[in-house]
Order: sequence, then structure tokens, then C-alpha cells
Amino acid sequence: MPKINSQFSKTLITWYLHSKRNLPWRSVSNPYFIWLSEIILQQTRVAQGTPYYFKFISAFPNVKDLAEADEETVLKLWQGLGYYSRARNLHAAAKYIMTDLNGVFPTTFSEILKLKGVGDYTASAIASICFNEPTAVVDGNVYRVLSRYYGIATPINSTPGIKEFKLLAQKLIDASQPGTHNQAMMEFGAMHCLPKNPDCINCVFNATCVAYQKDKLGELPVKLKKTKVKHRYFNFLVVLSSERKTLLNQRKGKGIWQNLYEFPLVETKGQVGEAELVLNEDFKNLTNKWEMESISLYNEEAVVHKLSHQHLYTRFWIVILNSEIEQMQTISEIKEKAVPVLIGNFIDKFPPFNDF
Ligand code: SF4
Repeated sequence: MPKINSQFSKTLITWYLHSKRNLPWRSVSNPYFIWLSEIILQQTRVAQGTPYYFKFISAFPNVKDLAEADEETVLKLWQGLGYYSRARNLHAAAKYIMTDLNGVFPTTFSEILKLKGVGDYTASAIASICFNEPTAVVDGNVYRVLSRYYGIATPINSTPGIKEFKLLAQKLIDASQPGTHNQAMMEFGAMHCLPKNPDCINCVFNATCVAYQKDKLGELPVKLKKTKVKHRYFNFLVVLSSERKTLLNQRKGKGIWQNLYEFPLVETKGQVGEAELVLNEDFKNLTNKWEMESISLYNEEAVVHKLSHQHLYTRFWIVILNSEIEQMQTISEIKEKAVPVLIGNFIDKFPPFNDF
């Protein structure tokens, strides 16, 4: 553990009070709003997340309203933000607060941590900002700032690294104003000590920052190599009847896009042509009751959708039916469904769904 610089928090907070952005959730201390903003901002940039924050607090001004909403409404509002488990967890946690906690938002780090979808970082942020509990936030930004400032080369995604940085961040926190300290830390990492080209020349820490003084910016923080990205090949069957109806199925089970709607899907081991697709067993099982007039490929070039550990290569096949099949829906009905952004983009652009 490096020697703690007692000035660190004071310097950081002074910088923050001069340089912070005016973000909508910075003027509130309502834990529900802070929780919402923190969950939205996980894996989402501020510019993209802010409209969603406003949409959510307007549709659900408090925990009770969120708990009482149906899941599809919540997912529909979340549409476009990705990582839908965040929305499902928010919803489940709101219900838990209403049923198990008599509608009272938990007030301590350990109780907040019990909310579904809330990890150490979010619980620390809420507990410190809303309830003055001195629990340090640690995320990618904090790892970067601390590893550079103290010159720590322990990999930030290793078990010892996670422990070491949490302990260090905890030692640095100003217990008299933990919320401000944590927000200052987040802001400094997000706005000043950037991953690329940090503004060291104008940095309040440049005289004591190890990475800057020892020219180690390119080496810190240290990160262990990521897990391999999985490549998946999706063939969506966009069925069309003469009545302009189509079919969306709800995706069940664990994994990506749980409970969202999608066109009937055939996943293949690689990219396939029509001849190979129609011989595929999953395709045959899926379509054995359909009276197909024709099938044609809509996009020769696959749409590539990148998730954290998966790249989805997606092609849409237009299947014209001679007669309707069960559960077909009108275009206006499918536009009401909560769908992954990939499907939403297709629906918005596919002429038969839009030219009336
Ligand atoms: S001097 Fe550079 S590397 Fe060090 S804390 Fe400041 S911005 Fe980050």
C-alpha cells in the first residue's frame, strides 16, 4: 500500500467544485433518482443516458410507480440503451423495496447492496451521496486515476488488484464529505485523467503523480487480457402475409435480450446462403407448418452488432407466406413491442413496415 497523501482529497474536491459538469442528478439527493442515474450510466455515456433519465423520472416519479409498471413498459422505455438486464433488475428491485421494505429505500451501503443489479460501486455511490456513508466508489475511472497517481502496476482486473484499489480508495475518502469526494473522483476520471491524452500539463496533481513524473502514462493502469469474443450468426425470418402481418416471438431463457421480442431466429455456425439455410434442422422445425411462397435475403452484408463478449452477424430473410400462421401481428402491434435495437432499426427502415 503506497503512502497516503493527506492532501489528495482536498485537492480533488477543490478541482471538482471548479470544474464539475452541471448534470441533472447532481442537484438531487433523492436515493431513487441517484440510483436510477447510476444504473443508466453503467455502460452508457452521459449524453446518451440523460434523456433516458428524464424519461424514467417522468414516467415513474417514484419507486412505487416503477414497481407497479408492467415489465414491457419498463423495457420499452429502456429501448436503445442496451444491457436490458439493468432495466429488469431496476424493476425487480423497485418491487422488492415496495414489498419487503415497506416502500422505504434502504439507507446503508450493505442494505443498498442487496438490491438486484446493484454492485459495490453503485451501493457506494448511493450510500455516500444520499446518506453520507464513507464508502469509496471504485470503477474503471478510479482504477486509472489511482494506478497512475500512485504508480501501482497491480492488474486492475485481478483479485489482488480489486482488493488493493478498493482499500486505497477507502483510505483516501474524506469522511466529512464522502458524497462530494466520490463524485469528484468519478468526475476527475471521466473528464480529466482520460484513458488517452490526459491533460497532465494542466493537472492539479502533476507535481506528485508518479505516472507523469516517471513517464509511465502508457503503462498504467495494467489490465489482464480480455476473454475471447464469441462470433454468432443470426438469421432472422421476417414473415409477411398478404394482410401485411408479421411475427415477433418473445425471447425466453437466460442470455442476451431476455423477454424482448424478435423475428423467428435461426442461428447458424457461420454465414449461410439460402440453400444451406433451408436445409438447416432448426429452420425446418421452425417453418414446417408455414406455407411459404418465397424466401429471399434482405441484406447481403451482415449487420454486425457488438456486445461486450459477442459479435452478432445478422442477416434478415424475407419470407412471403401464402396463408397466415398463428399469432401473426399487425405492423402497428409490432411497433409497440420492446425489441432489441437491432430489430428496432430494421422495423424502422424496412419499407413494407413503413410505406402505407
Ligand atoms: S498528471 Fe496526468 S496521469 Fe497524473 S493524475 Fe493528472 S492527468 Fe492523470
